[in-house]
Amino acid sequence: TGNKPFEALSVETLPKRLGENEALTERIGKDISRWKVREVGDGNLNLVFIVEGDKGAAVVKQALPYVRLVGDSWPLPLKRSFFEYHALTRQQARAPGSVPAIYHFDETQALIVMEYLSPPYIILRRALIDGRELPNLARDIGLFMARTLFRGSDLSMVARERKADLALFADNVELCDITENLVFSDPYFDARMNRHTSPQLDGLVAELRADRDLKVEAQRLKHLFAANAETLLHGDLHSGSIMVTDTETRMIDPEFAFYGPIAFDVGMLLANFWMAFFSQRGHEENGSRDSMRAYLLKVTAETWAVFRAEFSHLWRTERTGMLYQRSLFEDQGDRLGAEQALDHMLSGIWTDLLGFAGIEVHRRILGLAHNADFETIADQDLRAKCETKALRFGRHIAVNRRQIHSIDEVNTLAALIEQES
Ligand code: ADP
Ligand code: MG
Ligand code: MG
Ligand code: MG
Repeated sequence: TGNKPFEALSVETLPKRLGENEALTERIGKDISRWKVREVGDGNLNLVFIVEGDKGAAVVKQALPYVRLVGDSWPLPLKRSFFEYHALTRQQARAPGSVPAIYHFDETQALIVMEYLSPPYIILRRALIDGRELPNLARDIGLFMARTLFRGSDLSMVARERKADLALFADNVELCDITENLVFSDPYFDARMNRHTSPQLDGLVAELRADRDLKVEAQRLKHLFAANAETLLHGDLHSGSIMVTDTETRMIDPEFAFYGPIAFDVGMLLANFWMAFFSQRGHEENGSRDSMRAYLLKVTAETWAVFRAEFSHLWRTERTGMLYQRSLFEDQGDRLGAEQALDHMLSGIWTDLLGFAGIEVHRRILGLAHNADFETIADQDLRAKCETKALRFGRHIAVNRRQIHSIDEVNTLAALIEQES
């Protein structure tokens, strides 16, 4: 590809254009006449090719200068590929084994060559819709979040390095803008690209848009997202950005990476489990999902427990940054002081994650980007019932987040709302 200007790849042109790429030929073989190329991107933004040759397979992900879902009427810069690449290398360093191996990055062509997560790997959202209970999911995700979020912050990093990184990712303006608008604002007014299950949800949509407490809370959360540059976030950590087998878990697609509040990734992720929970009623034609519902609530509790435990462990053993220095606490024999500060930190993350989770539920039902969990429920009335419960749940946890003290409380509430007719 050299220094030629950007050009989108296609299934036909890929072998010729990347036939000399050593990262690729090393993995899949040099004989391009034997390469088989498929485009599998199901995402909203980018091209994803699977390339198979004599020796093996790899994935080539390429950004486009616009939003794939919408077309060239909505331009989006190629540099999102740069942020995705740099986020992946940091996640790999901070939580080894949790992301696909990265083989090559070409900035001009906005393309990343990475490990192909071959079947039985599938997208987590698909597995949850199918009713699969994965035993290691909560542990793997809890560890990933604690390690990347702790190690990307001033609790761990050398201040100069973190500030340089903050400056690097500060340029991811356009993808942040998507989050700022689509997540925090559009669901609460008649924004152009919104859609919802209509007419079933019309009344509730009007009610939510007139809900002053909710709107103020959403804007406070948006303020937090934009102003609290605490750590390097994945930025798009939903169940469509995670690939799984029965026992393995990998995070993909961190192109929204940005310095923001720790609670954002955790809240968005938990929201996707709660949405999976409220959608199960729509997937019961082939049998009850009682066990799956119980599993999903257990996963939220376990993810949060693992996150807390690992974050606390790192706090006690790896607090090498400029925040809450050991010289003020442990070095003076004041271990209790360090524990007190940790409790403050975790309790702040908890309160904020409930807000982010509530808002994430709303935007997935009222905004532009919907979830297959609900979208694949063909019966519109049934879908609207599931969505209504999720919306009420989201509103409750976002507005009452300071009064809710444990994940068991939240899950009791979720079960209560789910059982209403
Ligand atoms: P987008 O940014 O457009 O959402 P994603 O990175 O989420 O793109 O990839 C879109 C789809 O491509 C994923 O849902 C998954 O099915 C597939 N995919 C992406 N990366 C890999 C990979 N490393 N291995 C296997 N499949 C992948
Ligand atoms: Mg994606
Ligand atoms: Mg996707
Ligand atoms: Mg993406």
